[in-house]
Amino acid sequence: MDEKNLSLRLERVANYVKKNDRLADIGSDHAYLPSALVLNQTIKYAIAGEVVDGPYQSAKSHVAELGFEKQIDVRFGDGLDVVELEDNITAISICGMGGSLIASILDKGFKAGKLSGKERLLLQPNVGEYTLRKWLVEHDYQIVAEDLLEENHKMYEIMIAKKSEQPVEASEADLQFGFLLKKDPTPMFKKKWQTELQKNKYIQESLLQSKSDQTDKLRNVKETIQEIEELLQK
Ligand code: SAM
Repeated sequence: MDEKNLSLRLERVANYVKKNDRLADIGSDHAYLPSALVLNQTIKYAIAGEVVDGPYQSAKSHVAELGFEKQIDVRFGDGLDVVELEDNITAISICGMGGSLIASILDKGFKAGKLSGKERLLLQPNVGEYTLRKWLVEHDYQIVAEDLLEENHKMYEIMIAKKSEQPVEASEADLQFGFLLKKDPTPMFKKKWQTELQKNKYIQESLLQSKSDQTDKLRNVKETIQEIEELLQK
């Protein structure tokens, strides 16, 4: 992968970046996403934030190789610490991490006053979508778009969120399956949840064979199986 050949996952996220957005890409590794967007002239300015020295150095040298130092400001720091309100960021992307890590980055940034409420959040959790949606809803972020893709035999969700002026409400099913994804279930969505159903049935089998008391875990897994079966029947 590089800025000319993004992974399908990052390419899909890139589709949600608007012309002349001022992007903050948090956890930017080689800065591939902002570099691709500068290269195809979608954006003129981005911050690439990294908290680990190796990926930070890779991002810095990659941006220098491309001659994009004026357009992409590579900053070292934890999560949204690298962003100032004066940067006038209009979109924040956080991709390729677990949903709970993304939620904790947003939470820390929210508490530190790093979110103006005007920026769109472009989020691509690898796992833990429920936790991330719950954080968004509890902080009145409305999910305005959701996407699902498969790459290298793995499914990835993308969610785009905007701060709402009204309180945002969600059912457990919205949080688990995605507000919009479940409204308009594609064959890929059904495939994802068929796979999850099989995984949960396998877990149930293992729990039933366990010699120790697994009552609570069994109750949870049964509930999940029932919810997925109901979803797939619709
Ligand atoms: N965003 C790229 C992508 O989707 O391909 C890179 C994903 S990589 C798996 C996750 C990156 O996030 C790593 O480079 C890691 O160092 C960085 N990261 C993890 N926690 C972070 C944090 N709190 N602040 C900034 N970067 C972080």
